[in-house]
Amino acid sequence: MKFSGLQKTSLIDYPDKVASVLFVPGCNLRCPYCYNWRIVLDPKPPFLTEAAALQILMERKKYVDAVVVTGGEPTIYKELPSFLKKLKEQGFAVKLDTNGFNPEILEQCLPYTDYVALDVKTSMEKYYLVGAENPKKLVDTVEMLKASGVEYEFRTTVVPKLVEMQDLQSICEIIKGARNYALQQFIPGDTLSQEYKSLKPYPPETLKTMAEALRGYVENLIIRF
Ligand code: SF4
Repeated sequence: MKFSGLQKTSLIDYPDKVASVLFVPGCNLRCPYCYNWRIVLDPKPPFLTEAAALQILMERKKYVDAVVVTGGEPTIYKELPSFLKKLKEQGFAVKLDTNGFNPEILEQCLPYTDYVALDVKTSMEKYYLVGAENPKKLVDTVEMLKASGVEYEFRTTVVPKLVEMQDLQSICEIIKGARNYALQQFIPGDTLSQEYKSLKPYPPETLKTMAEALRGYVENLIIRF
C-alpha cells in the first residue's frame, strides 16, 4: 500500500473515537462532486509508504484509538486486507470508507475491520453520472454488509440533481432493513466538476423533510449538516 496523506487526528471520521486518517491515491469512480479529486485523477508523489505510515501511527498510539482508511478508493489495492490486519495487530480500531465497487476485496477486509462506511451515491439508474455503468457490485456489497456482523453505515451525500427524493426512495428500497443510514449535506467548493463548485445545496429543511419520509426503511437514520 501507499498513501497520499495521513491526517494525524480526527474527531469526526470514526463514530465516538479519536482517529488518524489515511488517504489512498486513485479511485474507480469519478463523482463530479468529489473533494479529493487531486488524489483521484492524478496522484502525485511524494507517497507515504506502508512502513512509514505504520511508524507514524505507532508513535500516535497514545493519542488515537482508531485508524480510518479512506481515499480515493482503498479497495482498488489488493494489499488492503493484509494492511488492515497489521493495524488490528497493533490494537487499533479500523474503519474503512468505500464506494462498494470491489466486494471481493472488501470481503477479505471484513475480519480486520470494525466499521465500514459505504457510500450509496444515487439511484442505480443514475450511477453512470458518477462513472459506473453497472452498479451490480455495489448491490452485492450492500447485501454482504447487511449479512455481516461488522458495524456499518450506508451514507448518501445529498447532491441536488444527482440525488432527488425519488433517488433516495430507490436507494432505500435496496438498503431497507439496514442498521444505520446517513444523509449528508452537500457543501460546494473545490469539487472535481466546475459545475458543482457553486451548486446550491438543498436547504436544511428539505433534507429534514426527505429524512422524515425515509425513516421507516432503516433502524437509525441520521442527517449530517
Ligand atoms: S468514490 Fe469517493 S474518492 Fe472516488 S471519485 Fe467518488 S467521491 Fe471521489
